[in-house]
Amino acid sequence: MPDNQDIEHVKVLIIGSGPAGYTAAIYAARADLKPVLYQGLQPGGQLTVTTEVENYPGYPDGTQGPEMMEDFRKQAERFGTDIRFGYATSVDFTGTVHKVVIDENKTIEAEAVIIATGATAKWLGLESEQKLNGFGVSACATCDGYFFRGQDVAVVGGGDTAAEEATYLAKLCKKVYLIVRRDEMRASKAMQHRVENAENIEILWNHETKEVLGDKAVTGVRVFSNKTKEERDLEVTGFFVAIGHKPNTEIFKDTLNLDANGYIKTVAGTTKTNIDGVFAAGDVQDHVYRQAVTAAGTGCMAAIDAERFISSK
Ligand code: NDP
Repeated sequence: MPDNQDIEHVKVLIIGSGPAGYTAAIYAARADLKPVLYQGLQPGGQLTVTTEVENYPGYPDGTQGPEMMEDFRKQAERFGTDIRFGYATSVDFTGTVHKVVIDENKTIEAEAVIIATGATAKWLGLESEQKLNGFGVSACATCDGYFFRGQDVAVVGGGDTAAEEATYLAKLCKKVYLIVRRDEMRASKAMQHRVENAENIEILWNHETKEVLGDKAVTGVRVFSNKTKEERDLEVTGFFVAIGHKPNTEIFKDTLNLDANGYIKTVAGTTKTNIDGVFAAGDVQDHVYRQAVTAAGTGCMAAIDAERFISSK
């Protein structure tokens, strides 16, 4: 904990601003718990870097991820949530009042804390990928695809994210290579059909990335077949990594029980963690469903759990 005098006491502190955090805020604010919500590094969360959302109930014609998160924010604000910029940098959950340090210099003391910090994109871990990150290497087609319009690009991954990114890029780019490490995709059938039906997407089955080529910007990608070991250079200017996510739990790892992949463990059927008064909602505790609607559902549960915890004290 920082040695400073900037301490504020609140009833409910919510960390994170994806569907889980904002839904927790709507419920906590309507229960008159005067929640304070810190948005974190990516206000609005992962949906701000997606395009079309077609599966969130209540939007019969679909909506755009960033717009949907604006709606969530406005709804949370409408009931009086105090929404702030700021990033939780450390926690102390050892006392009866929980302490969370924001931006290393302000301490919030809360009766209940709702953790909704979500998950972050994973990288392959290649040196060349890191070197060229931002210079042709990206983890977000929606953010960066526009820069590659009319060009050839590659996407790596075989899940729904990779399928979605490849389909999105196929509309902007001349050609999209999809690098899949197995002989099948993990993506839903509907998403796979979209990939297969796009004329300018070529799927490289059983292929992995050896190196991203280029000095100051991406000029290509060296891939290899994990069956034949044969190498091939793809002439692309963009390389999009879409291989999944890592839960944002670094600051909680010494206090909260996490599973082998770093997701916060909760008591089945609740959002309770191993610490009284600390609740977890959304992707930070869910590696199975990982949907906006399930995140919102657990956000609602966390606010109700927090409300019951505070009134039982
Ligand atoms: P997933 O974990 O579902 O898929 C990750 C993919 O990346 C897998 O195909 C995996 O291969 C591959 N992969 C992992 N590591 C590597 C590596 N080092 N090299 C090459 N390939 C690798 O993550 P997603 O982000 O795709 O999806 C997460 C969740 O979000 C899912 O539940 C998904 O359904 C959901 N989602 C839904 C969307 C929608 O409905 N519109 C859009 C996007 C995501 P392998 O299969 O071999 O393990």
